[in-house]
Amino acid sequence: MKFYNSLTKRVEEFKPNIEGKVSMYTCGPTVYHFAHIGNLRTYIMEDVLEKLLRFSGYDVKRVMNITDVGHLSSDADTGEDKMLKGAKREHKTVMEIAKFYTDAFFADCAKLNIKTPDVVEPATNCISEFIHMIEVLLEKGYAYKAGENVYFDTSKLDDYFVFGNQNEEELIVGARDDVTEDENKRNKNDFVLWFTKSKFEDQALKWDSPWGVGYPGWHIECSCIGMKHLGEYMDIHCGGVDNIFPHHTNEIAQSESYVGHKWCNYWFHVHHLNDETGKMSKSKGEFLTVSLLEEKGYDPIVYRMFTLQSHYRKPLVFTYEALDQATVTYKKLKNRIAGLSPEGAPDEEAVRTWHERFAEVVGNDVNTAMGLTLVYDVLKSDLDGATKLAVLADYDTVLSLRLCDGASDAASGNEAGEENEDPELRAHVEEKIAERAAAKKAKDFALADSIREELLAEGIKLTDTREGTVWSRV
Ligand code: AMP
Ligand code: ZN
Repeated sequence: MKFYNSLTKRVEEFKPNIEGKVSMYTCGPTVYHFAHIGNLRTYIMEDVLEKLLRFSGYDVKRVMNITDVGHLSSDADTGEDKMLKGAKREHKTVMEIAKFYTDAFFADCAKLNIKTPDVVEPATNCISEFIHMIEVLLEKGYAYKAGENVYFDTSKLDDYFVFGNQNEEELIVGARDDVTEDENKRNKNDFVLWFTKSKFEDQALKWDSPWGVGYPGWHIECSCIGMKHLGEYMDIHCGGVDNIFPHHTNEIAQSESYVGHKWCNYWFHVHHLNDETGKMSKSKGEFLTVSLLEEKGYDPIVYRMFTLQSHYRKPLVFTYEALDQATVTYKKLKNRIAGLSPEGAPDEEAVRTWHERFAEVVGNDVNTAMGLTLVYDVLKSDLDGATKLAVLADYDTVLSLRLCDGASDAASGNEAGEENEDPELRAHVEEKIAERAAAKKAKDFALADSIREELLAEGIKLTDTREGTVWSRV
């Protein structure tokens, strides 16, 4: 498995710190408003990466923060607090806003078949961890107090610009902020670790700290939440390309100064979704959300398909025409799959061969478009219907396009399916399905196959789907 590492600027073979295990961190949403479909492009691609790692046999632990405090409207410590802005807009408290938009975010993710990370941690849960990290940074001389705030001192690092690719626009933003904003900073790129005083509107949520009552800067949360759940060494850190600078640059600066060694080996960044006018926005132009797409009659999963058709390292332009096209393609594809005959047992050997093919092709820098091409290759192949269905169900554990949903209804040949069966038979089959799942997990495919054969001899056929294995009478 290889993918592009923004740190080394190369497509690299992935090697985790601990064999077989992956620690993965994702910058979560700032929960002051709905996510736009651009944000969700990033989360879809990160979801594909996680599922692809699992598909390739890794045991993944993925952590995501929820930014419910301290993220000002500019990433460079300036502007209005986004959460406060949301609270004022809706005449609610900051915590009410955070709760509402956190739930809305996960509801959108569910519609797009994005798996919830293993750990989801709001920043407001971890204030004591932030304070501890800042104390250590002060002790080690990487931070200083000025104007009642605490800042990270970027001049203490040999190489602060680790990604080295700040574009001109970003540098201009940085320069402008420096001139017009914070005079406490010793160096242009220093950033706030803890605010007690901001010349901008006051924060609603504040905590006591050794430096006075205040609130944390935005970047500290990802370093602390990552370390809290994944330890001092992280394999993969993800985000959208806009996170590279200053957010991820600052995360690395403070994390590595804190632990005293390299922190994260691979940085996975997803390029932006733009609309036809350019940058996607929550305040200007049409605010493109999953709900808006639904109101207009689109199936959210078609939006997922649309994003999978292009590579995560290329900017993507959203148009309704493109989504219409994706809708037609998706419907045709689903119809073809629904028409497959589920008769007989799948050829497990063939399923394994096609599995390997997908792992190799899509595992070459998360090539989702090639993954979709493989779906068509399966359909065109001379495999029998049941084997095609099994291969597609396997692929769908990564693509998550509900490819076989219609087909599994057809497979059961019975609207109510297994629900109607007698409890004793159901218990027996479920026990066998569990045994088979355990055998597959232990890579004992011979045993898994023999369980399938045994059930088939009893007149029970198993079909593997995205939601797990379903069964029906032959
Ligand atoms: P935010 O809620 O603003 O912190 O952003 C959530 C995620 O969406 C971050 O990983 C951003 O890098 C990413 N993001 C922001 N804008 C876009 C966009 N237009 N296209 C793709 N990803 C984006
Ligand atoms: Zn982050």
